[in-house]
Amino acid sequence: MNGMMKLAVNHDYAMEAANIIRMFYGKEQIDHLDFEALENNQSFFLVEEIILQSIIDIQDDGIVVKAAIQYGTEKREYKEAYSVSTVKQKKEAVKLTMYKLLSEFHNRTYPWGILTGIRPLKIVHELMDKGYHEKQIEAFMQNNYLVSIEKALLAVEIAAIERNFIYPVDSKKVSIYIGIPFCPTRCHYCSFTSNSLKTCGGLVEDYLSALMYEMEQTQALMNKYKLKVQTIYIGGGTPTSLNEEQLDRLLSKACTLYGDGIEEFTCEAGRPDSITEGKLRVMKQRGVTRISINPQTMNDETLEKIGRAHSVEETVRSFQLARKMGFDNINMDIILGLPGEGVEHLDKTLRDIEKLQPESLTVHTMAIKRASIMNENIESAAKQGNTPEMMKLTAAFARKQNMHPYYLYRQKHMVENLENIGYCKPGYECIYNIQIIEEKQTNIAFGADAITKTIFVQENRIERQGNIKDIRLYIARIDEQISKKLQLLDELYKEL
Ligand code: SF4
Repeated sequence: MNGMMKLAVNHDYAMEAANIIRMFYGKEQIDHLDFEALENNQSFFLVEEIILQSIIDIQDDGIVVKAAIQYGTEKREYKEAYSVSTVKQKKEAVKLTMYKLLSEFHNRTYPWGILTGIRPLKIVHELMDKGYHEKQIEAFMQNNYLVSIEKALLAVEIAAIERNFIYPVDSKKVSIYIGIPFCPTRCHYCSFTSNSLKTCGGLVEDYLSALMYEMEQTQALMNKYKLKVQTIYIGGGTPTSLNEEQLDRLLSKACTLYGDGIEEFTCEAGRPDSITEGKLRVMKQRGVTRISINPQTMNDETLEKIGRAHSVEETVRSFQLARKMGFDNINMDIILGLPGEGVEHLDKTLRDIEKLQPESLTVHTMAIKRASIMNENIESAAKQGNTPEMMKLTAAFARKQNMHPYYLYRQKHMVENLENIGYCKPGYECIYNIQIIEEKQTNIAFGADAITKTIFVQENRIERQGNIKDIRLYIARIDEQISKKLQLLDELYKEL
């Protein structure tokens, strides 16, 4: 069904209805129709257009929500009564009704039901905070959000593990993020802040100076409020795009400022083509406890297709080198749903990973954003790969390796509306990952496009300050970004 999408609503929750529609059609563009004109038959449609409606009728004891679809001569509608009062409940009723209509029309369901947000576990934590038992939560997820039993069980299992790390909340404990927005080359599917060294290599030195200045200028406030750093995470981009001397300068700065008493220090070494013995040595000397070497796939043709510019052999070599240098906490990232990859490709990837025995495995489902080179068609990528099946295979593999799922999040436009999920061997949970996803801890972030988040626990409120994405502007306007960050942190900590 490739027609243009039009949506008419008689309420304020068009965005919620549109999010469900996107789940089924994977389209960005949904035009909004005037509801009155549609009702009065004053709108004219082209044959290939898909017209959707979402209507709320207010009743004495609640609301009746109707969803309708018209495509060519085909028409279908679904109606349901809800005894709801809050805005949140009304939004959910709109989503449920649209989901039920489209699910029946296309004869398909999605594992996370109507949940379209990126943090489905927050709901589970809220219910746990209210004293719900696991069985009650599983039933709640299935009945209220149409989540599959498998995902409900998974969500409850992970939330129970996460609670060991997120509670008790200590507002003075923070995590630090440091972003290096450079990569050797740009992968075709990339939607992160990443600049190829080939075109932007000349900016690295100025960038590092601005970044370290930002870190230094924030320190006085962190000392004033006696903030304790729990974890440091250096991500990107690819931090190991820096040369040995630059990496040493940055890690030594991070270590001096935040190293005292930290529980975890991660440095992504994502691209195997950027890893050298010298850089691994620097990381070891500066106290990095966890690194990530990311194959994405262990199939050379796919690596070439997605523009990764490294081989499977390089991944294996880098991993073995890191082990030899004493790294005993290594994560590997893989992506499901890469172009042309099916179950047999995944099988090869997992067999190769099994030989290396990383402590953790992060499984991403392909998410194709407009910022990527490879943004043609989400549905076709999904069909090629049978991603839900691959997700199940990976889960079974992880369990066989004595790994358990420990954190989970979703992105927009994920193939089959699935999730990203982290597995690890017991005791190797990445605390930073859990804290950043569940948002109970303030995160102080440095670098281009880095987002500092302050958590006002009592008010259940989160405030954000995002740095500028463009590297040149980030460097040129560094003082203004620092002062916004300090203002935000001050607002939180002066009250505590
Ligand atoms: S390594 Fe990661 S951040 Fe860098 S270009 Fe590839 S996907 Fe983007």
